[in-house]
Amino acid sequence: MPEFVDRSPPGECIFCRIMRNELPAAHVHEDELTLAFMDIGQVTPGHVLVATKRHAATLLDLTQAEAAAVMQTAQRMASAQQTAFSPDGITLLQANGAAGGQTVAHFHVHVVARHTGDGVSFAWPRKEPGAEVIAGYAARLREALG
Ligand code: AMP
Ligand code: ZN
Repeated sequence: MPEFVDRSPPGECIFCRIMRNELPAAHVHEDELTLAFMDIGQVTPGHVLVATKRHAATLLDLTQAEAAAVMQTAQRMASAQQTAFSPDGITLLQANGAAGGQTVAHFHVHVVARHTGDGVSFAWPRKEPGAEVIAGYAARLREALG
């Protein structure tokens, strides 16, 4: 599993420094709660990150307003990608924690324009444990919701 690359304290992480214009980034869109900027890795042309302006490590650390704003900005970025790059599809990816694939510990969503045969792949090991087991998992989640 990937390790967190950025172990700096909150407020001093790579993306916090981008928010303060202390590090260069190609900005695409900004609003009160989010900044969209180009991912340095460009998995496909137009690969954008939508990050919260405030330092929040993971999805679990967002306010409801931030969570809503991030998805609205992601939709706008997807729409811009569709216009600018005419992809065959678009993938959103959002990783939490090293075990979840997160390498920068400041919340962000990847918006990736996808093209047939672009070589992007995900390991997605289906288990299909059966209806009874699935119902048990659902019950645990309902109980957790309270
Ligand atoms: P994740 O692995 O989901 O945490 O994604 C972190 C992403 O941040 C990677 O795709 C990196 O390419 C990207 N990244 C890291 N540093 C920078 C930077 N200075 N500017 C833009 N993107 C960056
Ligand atoms: Zn940060």
